[in-house]
Amino acid sequence: MRQTRPPSRARQNGRCKLSASRPRKHLTRGLRFRLTAVYTVFFALLLIGVSALFRQHLEASLSEQARRVLDQEWAAMKGYLKIERNQPIWFFDHDDPDEAFIVNRLRQVYFLADQTGEVLQYSDNYKDIGFDKPNEIKSVLASATPVWRVRKDSHGVPYLIRTGVVYDERHTRPYVVAIGRSLAPDRKILSDFTWIEYVGLIPASILTASVLGWVLAGRALRPVSALAETAQRISGSNLNVRIPDRGAGDELDFLIEAFNRMIARLEGSFQQMRQFSTDVSHELRTPITAIRGQLEVALFTARTTEQYREAMLNALQDIERLSQIVRALLLLSQAESGQLALQKTRLDLASVVREIVDQFQIPAEEARVRLSAYLPGTCTATLDKVQIERMLSNLLSNAVKFTPAGGEVHVTLQCLGDQAEVVVEDTGCGIPAKHLPYIFDRFYQVRNEAASGPERGLGLGLSFVAWIVKAHQGTISVESTPGRGSRFIVRLPVVAPVPASNETPDPAVASG
Ligand code: ADP
Repeated sequence: MRQTRPPSRARQNGRCKLSASRPRKHLTRGLRFRLTAVYTVFFALLLIGVSALFRQHLEASLSEQARRVLDQEWAAMKGYLKIERNQPIWFFDHDDPDEAFIVNRLRQVYFLADQTGEVLQYSDNYKDIGFDKPNEIKSVLASATPVWRVRKDSHGVPYLIRTGVVYDERHTRPYVVAIGRSLAPDRKILSDFTWIEYVGLIPASILTASVLGWVLAGRALRPVSALAETAQRISGSNLNVRIPDRGAGDELDFLIEAFNRMIARLEGSFQQMRQFSTDVSHELRTPITAIRGQLEVALFTARTTEQYREAMLNALQDIERLSQIVRALLLLSQAESGQLALQKTRLDLASVVREIVDQFQIPAEEARVRLSAYLPGTCTATLDKVQIERMLSNLLSNAVKFTPAGGEVHVTLQCLGDQAEVVVEDTGCGIPAKHLPYIFDRFYQVRNEAASGPERGLGLGLSFVAWIVKAHQGTISVESTPGRGSRFIVRLPVVAPVPASNETPDPAVASG
């Protein structure tokens, strides 16, 4: 026969090891790298943008300043230059070094031509730049405002030239005069700035920012790494591991808190699973041991057909109990895994309760328990009929089972607007307070005299009741006094959810 072997410990360990020592992703795919890269790129773009703007501003101010200086020089030039009989004469005090210096300065880049284009006076620098052509002279004469140009000399040095018109002493003949100044110092300032900025400061700032970004990203992501490491260490056997709170109250603390809560929930589920496996094995072992004992008795000691029959009957009873447990477990696991969907319909809850109470009259009479009910005429509700019947049966069977002869079981139904309240109370043995928090757990049973022998339950009934109530978004509570009785109160919402517009309304609702 082919058997499915459970995975060996070695294989399991191997798998664990594999996941623990999984090769780390490439550095460039890590969050730290990506955060640093994004931050650095953003910072670099910002820095380059700001520098470019600053450079543009500097260039504009230098050019503005150069024009202002030339404007002032032009005004000074008009004060010193006189043209008499077509002859340019510079009037200044030759003994005054300041005046001599100014005039010298004005004539460094200087050109004078008459209206025909004949050059009357010029400086060597201007000759190097190149004299103005007759058509250029004409356009200057025609222009009402000074003409500004940037021209280069034979060495490529740029000059800003201001060309305008001056008149002779009688103010009759116009002459074209051009003065200029070298833009080399300004260009030098700009190129120095560019070099310092783009080759020195920007790369250094980007490098510093990326190192800082890398350190900060590493520090910010440290809790995430701690989270990942803790997650790696967690297995079914050490779910008690928690990540310590950083106390910063930020998103990472929120993540840690959520993670810790998730682990706590997992721990709870694992604990429940373990408890469940223990309970199931225990519950299954009892009838199996009994069946085995009965079969052994039949095999070794039974002599007569009657004895065989009795042993087999007993075994059959235990087999029946076994299959009850398996059926109930299957149903419960289907319910809890969501496979048992509710089939809600519009029904009269009062008549459903009435029917179940009627069905329990015979068992109650047999147990000599008085079963009564106080129900309204109708109580319309949208519920799953089968599950509600199952819930009522479980509560009633418990009430009858745990109430000694001569006792009473009473069922009350009240319709309170959008809620229905079902109360099943009995004058039975009651449940000690210490057991109350656990009676809805699977297989939880309070051992008592009232229900023993074949009457003994599976400890699954109330788990089912709890699931049915929860699935209907209702609540269940229990009050109990040992020796005096118990009271189970179920509250269920009875209002159906608003139907979608394409659904046909229930005729019962429509008719009111
Ligand atoms: P069981 O199959 O044992 O009845 P349940 O899940 O229905 O399992 O109930 C769990 C335990 O709760 C029972 O074993 C019983 O001890 C206690 N219990 C439930 N209902 C009552 C009640 N009406 N009176 C006293 N004890 C009750």
